[in-house]
Amino acid sequence: MKIEFVDLHRQYLSIKQEIDEAIADVITNSAFIGGEAIKQFEQNFSELFDNQNVVACANGTDSLEIILQAKGIGKGDEIIIPALTWISTAEAVITAGATPVFVDVDDEGLINIAEIKKAITKNTKAIIPVHLYGKPVNMEKLMTLANQYKIFVLEDCAQAHLAKWNGKKIGTFGQAASFSFFPGKNLGAYGDAGAMMLQDKTLADDCRMIAQHGQKGKHNHIISGRNSRLDGLQAAILNVKIKHLQKWTEQRQTVAKQYDNLLQEVSQIKLPQIPKEGSCVYHLYAIEAENRDELKNYLTEKGISTAVHYPLPLTRTQPFKQQKSFPNAERITERTLSMPIFAEMEEIEVEYVADAIKAFYK
Ligand SMILES: *Cc1c(COP(=O)(O)O)cnc(C)c1O
Repeated sequence: MKIEFVDLHRQYLSIKQEIDEAIADVITNSAFIGGEAIKQFEQNFSELFDNQNVVACANGTDSLEIILQAKGIGKGDEIIIPALTWISTAEAVITAGATPVFVDVDDEGLINIAEIKKAITKNTKAIIPVHLYGKPVNMEKLMTLANQYKIFVLEDCAQAHLAKWNGKKIGTFGQAASFSFFPGKNLGAYGDAGAMMLQDKTLADDCRMIAQHGQKGKHNHIISGRNSRLDGLQAAILNVKIKHLQKWTEQRQTVAKQYDNLLQEVSQIKLPQIPKEGSCVYHLYAIEAENRDELKNYLTEKGISTAVHYPLPLTRTQPFKQQKSFPNAERITERTLSMPIFAEMEEIEVEYVADAIKAFYK
């Protein structure tokens, strides 16, 4: 058997007609930039999230950057972020001109809220929790802390569309949230795409202005902005896919449950532990494994694609190197291995992966 890490082609085949028609429509109408599909997508996405203010943009890194800029964050400001995340979270802080302050993660790879408290100074202007692997951060606890110190919270939701904490969708706790629709994300375009979500309408308008060359209305340039547009083709594709997101999310959760059941007896690995208040959307099914690299090679030989998220904490990468150590982030990066997971994955494929893991440790 051959098992892809994410099988985007299988998903395309399941919605081929709708997708092909949506793409043809954009081309027929030459609606490449601006236009109905984008407005429609912003509305669709807003409806999914209790009618928050949504501004579509070019990708999920721009989204983080533009929100920080709109908030007026810059030189001398400190932004608290986790040591373990995709690099965009930290890049956005640098692009804004601010200083990233790294804190360690907990056993599940999520920002450690007790560590956030220790890292707060008078210069702390924002916290960016990352719902890594699709696991929700305890946003009730985090917001209580942030509100106590009046610190802005920007949720990085790039890996966690529709994840929930205590029944409430992540992205709706913080004053702002950032989403990516990179093709492999739970809601993925056929190229780059992203969105910003803001509780405050004025802040949303400012984000839109920055993303559209600093304009408020055509040729009315208020500031020197940038170009970060969601294009018409991507919006049309996302409008098709968003209708399936709830179902796909449940299918991912089913696959995860199958892994949980099949692998619970294997003492050499640690499975994702989701607290009962949390609803995880399993962007990744990341386990911690003894002899991770050997296991990865063994699975490759069996035709199973896996991946490492991530090989290093940001605090060990060249641009963000820190003297201080971040023990949980470091342990996780040495042991983590992400298993194949996607909505269309079949039970027999999950069993094949689980059997291979068991055979390796025999
Ligand atoms: C994917 C991702 C982003 C942003 O992604 P883009 O590729 O710029 O759309 C940001 N943060 C995290 C945690 C991500 O996984």
